Amino acid sequence: MSIVVLKLPEVKSRTEGRPKECPYCSGETFQRWGKMKKPVKDTRSRNIWVYRYRCCRCGRTFRHYPSGTSMADQTERLRLFAVMCWIFGMSDRKVSMILGGLGITLCPMTVWRDTQGQAEQLHRQNQWKPVRVLGLDGAYVLGWGEKRPVLVAVDLGEAQPVAVGYVDERDPLAVQRWLEPLVQRMGVSVIVTDDLAAYKVVANRLNLEHQICQFHVRRWVGRTLKELQNTLSKEWLWVVEEIKELMDELPPDGDKRLYALWKQVKVSRGRRSDQQTPGYQLRDLLIRLSENWPNFCTFYSDPAIPWTNNGTEQVIGRMKMRARTVRGYKTWLGMQTGLMLAGTKSN
Ligand SMILES: [Zn+2]
Repeated sequence: MSIVVLKLPEVKSRTEGRPKECPYCSGETFQRWGKMKKPVKDTRSRNIWVYRYRCCRCGRTFRHYPSGTSMADQTERLRLFAVMCWIFGMSDRKVSMILGGLGITLCPMTVWRDTQGQAEQLHRQNQWKPVRVLGLDGAYVLGWGEKRPVLVAVDLGEAQPVAVGYVDERDPLAVQRWLEPLVQRMGVSVIVTDDLAAYKVVANRLNLEHQICQFHVRRWVGRTLKELQNTLSKEWLWVVEEIKELMDELPPDGDKRLYALWKQVKVSRGRRSDQQTPGYQLRDLLIRLSENWPNFCTFYSDPAIPWTNNGTEQVIGRMKMRARTVRGYKTWLGMQTGLMLAGTKSN
């Protein structure tokens, strides 16, 4: 269960210090030009003091707002509080009602605008951010009537989402089209994913290093081995033990050892081609693990590469928290905005 830490910006009732430069001409000397009391919408403050200054260079006057406030009626704190309520699944109208209960009038339209503004700000921040190690994972989210496939890209250095696409992760071409511009813009060199075949194809085509999440692999390999233990003839049970050991230790030369095992295990195929015998299943597992092994071990080459895709799963967990409570998004734009905001960890 992920926890969103609520830390809202501070709001000062008066400015500390003088402005640094004139917003018009960048002049650095000013005269005080009066002050005024401004009512604000906030969870705590009711009024702030705004000073006016006159620039000695260009002669124009401007207002100097205390930190956490601006020319808007609502403070930065209230704005983010409203966005948080929205992330937790309230509609614009409900957020407006909650604030009404605190004696603050903020219309649903303003809540909507603030949420959009926050999402745009995130988008701009992400646009040119360098990201070297990118986690990718698919999820299904309820939107306009049914479950929609989304692909989530996460900066694993910061554990923050950088993009959400309306893409089915099982379609290599769609994943590639969506990923290519991201990779180029952010300078991605490594992707971390589960072992879905599409990711392997895309990593090759885009010339990316690839780490396959080991939690994911251990889950399905563990299941397969357990099954084989019950079905396989006794003479090959030692191979199951060998595989277990290799998976636990993850030695860099594991692929060669698995390949050698594959050559040793001699079994005949089942009579009907669609019905695999346990022996055939074992050989299939050996060759599959051997082929993917280098991508199990990419993380040895660089401490910045995690050996699991946990960071991405955490972000998707945060996204699902809102998705559960909104009872479905109405449009793709709404879903994209909602997921990005909900997935972002406030710091
Ligand atoms: Zn000036």
